[in-house]
This record gives sequence, C-alpha cells and structure tokens, in this order.
Amino acid sequence: MRLRGLSNRARPCPIESRQTPLLQPADMTSNLQLFERAQRVIPGGVNSPVRAFRAVGGTPRFIARAQGPYMWDAEGQRYIDYIGSWGPMILGHGHPAVLEAVQKAALDGFSFGAPTEREIELAEAIIAQVPSIEQVRLVSSGTEAGMSAIRLARGATGRSKIVKFEGCYHGHADALLVKAGSGLATFGYPTSAGVPAEVVQHTLVLEYNNLEQIEEVFASQGSEIACVMIEPIAGNMNFVRASVPFMTRIRELCTQYGALFVFDEVMTGFRVALGGAQSVYAGLIPGFKPDISVFGKVIGGGMPLAAFGASRDIMRLLAPLGPVYQAGTLSGNPVATACGLATLKEISKPGFYEALSAKTRSLVEGLSGVAREAGVPFVGDSEGGMFGFFFADSLPQNYGVVMATDQPRFNRFFHAMLERGVYLAPALYEAGFVSAAHQAEDIAATVDAARAAFKA
Ligand SMILES: *Cc1c(COP(=O)(O)O)cnc(C)c1O
Repeated sequence: MRLRGLSNRARPCPIESRQTPLLQPADMTSNLQLFERAQRVIPGGVNSPVRAFRAVGGTPRFIARAQGPYMWDAEGQRYIDYIGSWGPMILGHGHPAVLEAVQKAALDGFSFGAPTEREIELAEAIIAQVPSIEQVRLVSSGTEAGMSAIRLARGATGRSKIVKFEGCYHGHADALLVKAGSGLATFGYPTSAGVPAEVVQHTLVLEYNNLEQIEEVFASQGSEIACVMIEPIAGNMNFVRASVPFMTRIRELCTQYGALFVFDEVMTGFRVALGGAQSVYAGLIPGFKPDISVFGKVIGGGMPLAAFGASRDIMRLLAPLGPVYQAGTLSGNPVATACGLATLKEISKPGFYEALSAKTRSLVEGLSGVAREAGVPFVGDSEGGMFGFFFADSLPQNYGVVMATDQPRFNRFFHAMLERGVYLAPALYEAGFVSAAHQAEDIAATVDAARAAFKA
C-alpha cells in the first residue's frame, strides 16, 4: 500500500487530511487543553491579542509545526496557511536556503552587541530595491521601527504634530494608539488604557482616502506637522488601497508645508512588490517617493527584524551622528539578519513577484467565483502576495466602511474554512497572504473548501 500523507505534497485535499490526522498518539494534547493551560500563565493565553480568536470566537489553534504552505496544530490537523505569520513567510515555511542560512549563522553566535558584516549586506540589499532610501537602521520589531521613524521625523522638522489615518496600524507605541476625535482636526483619543491623553495630544487622526480632511488639516495646522504616516495599502483594515489622488495630494501637501511623508511598509514592503507599495505608487504617480520608509515582517523572513530608512540627510540626524537618540541591544541580530538576507535573495530572483501575484489573483478570483455561484455578496482585491476580501458589494475605501461589512457572515465563513483545513486571518480587519510555496492544488483546495463553506 502506498503510504499517503507522509509527504506534505502528497495530500492536496485538506478535508481528507482533517478526517484522518497523521499523528494521533493517545496522549496528544488538544488545542482546548493548551488554551486553558496558556490562560493560566499568559494573559488571554496569547502573546498578541488577535491570536486569541476573540473576533471570531472559538478556540485558537496551537501550532506544532509548519512546512511549505501548511501548518499543523497540536491535534495533528493540517491547515493551508494564509496568514504566514502575518506576512513574513513569503517563501512558505522552512524554505531550505533560509533554513541553511539560519543554521549556519546560529553556529557562529546568537548575538554580539557589536557590528557585523551581515548587517551591511542586509542594509545594502534593502537599499538596492528601494530608491527612496540611502541608509537604513535595523531594529527588532515593526513597532520599534515606526516609533523611531516618528521620533526621527520630529527631530528632523523640529515639529510635534503627526497625522495618521483611522484603521492604519503602525505598531503599539503610545502616540499611535489613537482614534479619531469627534470633529475634524481635533486631537485624537487614546484607544488603550495606560496612554495618557497628553501623550496623544499631538496625534491627528483623519479618515483614510478623505481628501477634504487632509486639505483642511494642512490649511489650519500645516506648519506644525512633522509627518504624515500612512499604510499605503492598508492591511490592518483588511485590504484598502490609498487612492491615487489621495496619495498624490498628501505628497504635494507634505512638500509644500515641509512635513515628511512616512510610508509604513512593515506589511507591504517586499510583499506587494520587490520595491514595496512605494514602487506600485511610483508606477502610477510620476516621480513619487516617500521621505521615510518603515519595514518589518518580510525583511526578517520570520525572525524579529525590522528597519527604517530615508535619505542620508535625514538619517544622519540619528545617534551617534546626530541628536535623535535610537538604540537596541539585539538590533541587527546576526541570526535574524541571516534569515532576512536569505529571504531577500530568494525573492529577488527574476519572475518571483509575477508568479506570486498570479497565484494570489487566482485565489481571489476563485473565491469570488464560488461566492457568485452561491449568491453571496463578495469583493476581493490583491497586490503581489497580499490579498483581502469583504462580504460587501464594493471595495471599502475607509475603516468605517470596512467595519460595516457583514461581520457575522465573515465569522461563519472563517470557521467553516478552518474546519475544512484552511487557516484565514481570524478577524475581518486583517489582510491575507499567499506564499511562493502555495501551489495551484492548494489554491484549488481552498476554493473547493469555500464552495462547500458557502453551501453550508
Ligand atoms: C505588523 C505591523 C506593524 C507592527 O509590527 P510589529 O513587528 O508587530 O511590531 C506596524 N505597521 C504595520 C503596517 C504592520 O502591519
């Protein structure tokens, strides 16, 4: 008898693998048991809130291992993974070249707290793909990179105010945990306890894709604005593109008023295209460039690594050259940089993004097709290896509209897909990710699962 299921590739059908888990020792711990145990020692049982499944309900899956496009939970169930650690795993899990680079680096030492040649190589590799930046500094998380970029923008301009948009997430630094106030151009309110109102008094929160609001805020306070920070394709409200007129106008206003335009490409960088979302907009708006860029996720290939970069003129304001302080014990970590470098090397190969984009588009088209068959209102969009979908008639343009889409239907769909071995993001305001390891058969199995889910 042929032993099916020994190879990850041998089992294209997630439904089948669900009914006959590969591993089932008598003492296997269930996800529920692990969740109960986790909740005793970790708040909510998780180290980052969305993992707790609060938005969709149910028990989070505790992941035991992952390979290629698949993850297996503690109960031995296999899932086609469309989260990819929230974006970093663009090559899929356990890519051989990345694994080898990490293993080699680990043998040479985990951390030195001193400069290494690999940091130069990674900085060079990032700069080579992103024409708007001449220097980068490496840090350990997207939060840290975003927070540092804002300090740099304030240091560079000598101004205090920052503009952000509702629904964009830039990490959990105090000044960025803000929601819009009731009136336009009023100060925002903290969205988290523990953030004093004084700390967010310089953060202005506007509606995404709202041209009037950005005009008005610059007209009234333009000379006090240090920077405008944006997720160019917002993946923390599912998938919402900044419109070309909106992007064009922000760029003009920033230039006119001497404010810096900060692109938070933690999610989109090296994900939607090799040159990030800024290369997508540069293709639509001649000469377009942000002033400061923030990266994370893909550039670490799954290790804690992030970066921010800008022109040499701006970056030289950072310590030790300039007055803006910024530091990190594990910054430029040798194992993390090895992982990032090996990842960038793979994704820089010719044709990589063409193939990834085509695959991601085929997924969104497949899902749209079966939704149409089932008479379910559904719209989707994608760029490179990032996608989003909504149970709505047209693509939302801002956070309010995203949150008004059919949440109960999303939650039912999420669970119906999870039961069928497809792991989508457990909240309707999150983007999804396809990796180079996803094959046509995985996409087909996902679309089949969605057809069954819509029927159910
Ligand atoms: C994930 C993310 C961050 C935060 O990065 P962490 O590494 O989780 O701190 C910041 N900005 C954007 C756009 C993100 O998607």
